[in-house]
Amino acid sequence: MAIREIRQVGDSVLTKKCKTVTRINHRTKVLIDDMKDTMYDYGGIGLAAPQVGVLKRITIIDIGEGPIVLINPEIVASSGSQTGEEGCLSLLGKWGMVSRPEAVAVRALDENMEEFEMSGEGLLARAICHELDHLDGEMYMKLVEGELQDVVEEVEGEEESQETDAKPDGSEDVEKSEEIKRLEEEMARTMAEKKQVEADLKIVEEELKRREELEKNEELKKSEELAEEKSCE
Ligand code: ZN
Repeated sequence: MAIREIRQVGDSVLTKKCKTVTRINHRTKVLIDDMKDTMYDYGGIGLAAPQVGVLKRITIIDIGEGPIVLINPEIVASSGSQTGEEGCLSLLGKWGMVSRPEAVAVRALDENMEEFEMSGEGLLARAICHELDHLDGEMYMKLVEGELQDVVEEVEGEEESQETDAKPDGSEDVEKSEEIKRLEEEMARTMAEKKQVEADLKIVEEELKRREELEKNEELKKSEELAEEKSCE
């Protein structure tokens, strides 16, 4: 059991196609255990073997419901579409919007080389797609819609929850409630500004009314004068 170094973008190991696993030996078992330790230590929700420098088709995922080990995984069906924030432990400090299927079905081998099928939707489907891409040397950046974003320091906890290789703990809730508080404060400010604008508008409207009244009076006066002039003719 050990925490391994996570390879970062620029490391060629992340761009290579991984090899099919033909048998599980002691080294593979240690690798899987280390991958779990590493993923949890970094606060990820998924990790693929190439991210720790091993070109084998092995990935682990845990979106908070316990670890799933997928060996030689293949997506056998997918449906729907979801667009959301995605990040990666191999590209820390960045995130981007990525569209993925809403649901996928996967066929893989477990740690005992037994074939099984599973399906996932939402975050799990996103994590499965993200990790399987790693096994083909692909990363999420080329799927990003718009710009790749920098993670802002103050919402780092949120970044971790957004990351597909991210943390399935309660830090998201804390960040969320802080975010909600911030939004509420902003809303209160906006409402106060709106009130001010409305008050200003009322003053302007009254001023307009006053002028209209004045103009009306003047017109009345003029027409009276005209009438007077006419009657004098
Ligand atoms: Zn990743």
